[in-house]
This record gives sequence, structure tokens and C-alpha cells, in this order.
Amino acid sequence: MNSRIIEDAAFNLIKTSAINLPQDVKQMLKKAYAEETSLVGKTQLKAILDNIELAEFNHVPLCQDTGTITFYVKAGSKVRNLDKVEEALVNATRKATREIPLRPNAVNPLNEKNSDDNTGRLMPIIHWELFHGTQLELTVVTKGGGSENASALAMLNPSNGIKELKKFVIDSIIRAGAKPCPPTILGIGVGGGADVAIEIAKKALLRPLDEMNPDPTVANLEREILDAANMTGIGPMGLGGKTTVLGVHFDYAYRHPASFPVAVAFSCWADRRASARISGGGDVKFIGRKESG
Ligand code: SF4
Repeated sequence: MNSRIIEDAAFNLIKTSAINLPQDVKQMLKKAYAEETSLVGKTQLKAILDNIELAEFNHVPLCQDTGTITFYVKAGSKVRNLDKVEEALVNATRKATREIPLRPNAVNPLNEKNSDDNTGRLMPIIHWELFHGTQLELTVVTKGGGSENASALAMLNPSNGIKELKKFVIDSIIRAGAKPCPPTILGIGVGGGADVAIEIAKKALLRPLDEMNPDPTVANLEREILDAANMTGIGPMGLGGKTTVLGVHFDYAYRHPASFPVAVAFSCWADRRASARISGGGDVKFIGRKESG
């Protein structure tokens, strides 16, 4: 596969993600605006919706914090030049920073030096998944620091199970308050080890908001946590109201009998993500984007 095609596709994904929110998020924000009963909350949601429209109209990023760039790569084992993909994603990140432009958000934690191009050691973040095939699927997430700072991880007592999990999630939402720019979307990862819980919590954020969990037991748990979260009164931008969380996405892995890891990943209202599929022949198809509505 031609690495130039991968670089161009990745650049376009970063640009789309930074400027246009996915349709499912916009619809959910419009629904929240229609249903919000707090006047202050409604005003905040209106400002968010106006902001989304202005960004689209002027082709500028949705937020001054253009986030950390994370790629999820699903690679067919028969894709040629797989070893060139990482370089293409780094080049796309540099170009996007220059041309969109994006805020340079990659800082060396030891000497505070900003690379000025959103790249550096382990940056952009790249997650790999291999499958049998000839296609490459790229998803980019541009996640703001405010929502990342609200991330929570706990190693709970297994004997307290799901009950303590619910308490930990709601406590995390209350502790986060206005910091992750609510209304938020929550990814909850349970099981595995600490690393797996965090990884699957973040990955759960990729699921569209209008997609129900196929497992009815898990769907019920998500609904229960969503309802409880929206009873906290934190509201849009933390200024009060009944819209604190737009959606809850749960995932799990089997765990050690003595461990019960729970991770909560937050996405702010600017839930920026975009995906594309590149065929073995180099055709690029952007996926998961409905243009109407
Ligand atoms: S948390 Fe999201 S909306 Fe808030 S400043 Fe950061 S990127 Fe922007």
C-alpha cells in the first residue's frame, strides 16, 4: 500500500475530526438542548451548538485545545508496507499541525520542551490491531486535556463487584465536575489488569452514541449509570442542569480473581473522531459519517 495514500487519508481524518463533530454527537447535543430544563444549562448547550456550526462554516477547529492525536489502526495482515504506516501517521500529524493548524500539544515531561508539531516519543499515540485481510482501517481521535485529566482508575475489592463499580463511576463524575467540559461521554472499562481496563475504557468511546450495546445486561447497566449521572445536577459546562452525560459505553475483560480494575475515560462534548477504510488497491472510503440530519 502506498504510504502517501495513508498519509493523505490520515491528514484528512485529523482535519475532519478537528473541525466537524460526528453526526451522532451533534444529534445527541440537539436532543439534550431540546430536553434541558435549566435555563443556564440550555444557554450553555445553545452556545455549544452555535460553536459547532461556526467551526463547520469557517473550517476552523471546534476548540482551542485541538487535543492529543490518537490513531487506532486495524491492519489486514496482507497489507503491503505495514512497516511504513507509523511514519505516514507521524508525517500526517506534522502536516495537520502546520496546515489546519492545530495547537502544538506534545511536551517532553522531563524538560517541558514542546516539539511544536504534535509529535515526540510515543506521540502521536498509535494502537494496533491485526486481522486477516488486505484493508487498513484508520480511526483518529483528537482528545482534549480537560477530559483526559478527569480519567479515573481504581482497583476495587472484587467481593463488592458491580455495586462498588457504580459508586466509583458516579463519584468520578462528581469529582470531575466541570473539568471535562460536560456534557461528557463516558467509556467504562472493567477487568483485565489496570492497563487493559484503561485501554478498553478509551476504546469504548469510539462506539457511536446512537448504537445500543448488543448485550441487554450491559445495555441496562449503561442506562442505569447514565440516569444516575444525569441526576448529579452538574449540567452543561458544570453550570447546572440535567444534561451531564450524553452516553455511557461499557466494555469488559476477564480478570484475576483477586483484582477488580475499573477505569473511567471521559470525552468532553467535543467528542472528536473520524474513520476511513483503505482498500488493498488504495481506494479511501471515509466511514461512519452521515452527512444529513
Ligand atoms: S475538554 Fe474538550 S471542550 Fe473542554 S477545552 Fe478541552 S478539548 Fe475543549
